[in-house]
Amino acid sequence: MYQMKCTKCGGLAVVNMPQHRLKLCEEHFLEWFPEQVVNIIRRYDMFAPDDRVLVAVSGGKDSLALWYVLDRLGYETEGMYINLGIDHDDYSNRSQEHVEAFAAEHGLEYQVVNVAETYGRGVPALISTTRGHRMCAACGLVKRHIMNRIAYEGDYAAIATGHNCDDEAAVLMQNVLHWQTGYLRRQAPVLPQVHPRLARKVKPLCRIYERDVAAYALVRGIDYIQQECPYSKKAQTLFYKEILNQIERRSPATKQQFYITYLKAKDEGLFAEGEEEGRVYHTCPRCGQPTLADDLCAFCKLWENL
Ligand code: SF4
Ligand code: ZN
Ligand code: ZN
Repeated sequence: MYQMKCTKCGGLAVVNMPQHRLKLCEEHFLEWFPEQVVNIIRRYDMFAPDDRVLVAVSGGKDSLALWYVLDRLGYETEGMYINLGIDHDDYSNRSQEHVEAFAAEHGLEYQVVNVAETYGRGVPALISTTRGHRMCAACGLVKRHIMNRIAYEGDYAAIATGHNCDDEAAVLMQNVLHWQTGYLRRQAPVLPQVHPRLARKVKPLCRIYERDVAAYALVRGIDYIQQECPYSKKAQTLFYKEILNQIERRSPATKQQFYITYLKAKDEGLFAEGEEEGRVYHTCPRCGQPTLADDLCAFCKLWENL
């Protein structure tokens, strides 16, 4: 039987990464992965070694692998789990259990925000208030609002999320196909802090393929929730990920080139500044967060419309 050999030591390889022309044994893969994360953090100047970082964890492989690796690299982290109140298959509670078990196993600090307990209703109740009944739009808004609040209250240098290269490339493809120029300008490994109450957001896994993050979680024995959010089936992103993976199978490294070349082009000024630069924020009279609206912020309006 054909056995893959590790590019570094000739031992038995457990992962094959054609996009890097690398096959690695378990030992070398476990070395390689954190090195990549450190390189990404430094390349995009995400945060400093002594910064406090809030890690947004969902219980899935990407965010738990990120939390694990940041902690191992010596960064000061705290996890934050937002219980959205998605009760289909007890999804939110089961995800929370994975986060809690993971934190207990590794001695990590975390906090939980329970949407239904804090705001009266879970996120699924908001579906009727969104245009076209798009659950993920409301959910994203709620998550961003809570993340900004917790980061501000806890004075964190940044919020780290587990977005991987597949996530970023899929969003990029979606935005390119629809020429969403505003979104294109804003998509980046780092979203700077534009207001004291709008936290800096960073994506330390943004250049790593989803499959390789999954391999890391597996090799490290991270017990994550395998079940997808029941609403994710409707998310367009999955469709674009599959198309990109089909291209990748024919032509390895296309996915990372697509994303990384776009980031370089942006750095070189290929995308002109848009009207979003220099925007004036008002303070939401209800929650105190900054908003571009004259009255209530989008988050507060969502609950108001219920
Ligand atoms: Fe929220 Fe949509 Fe993600 Fe589910 S798939 S957690 S509804 S954004
Ligand atoms: Zn090796
Ligand atoms: Zn508000």
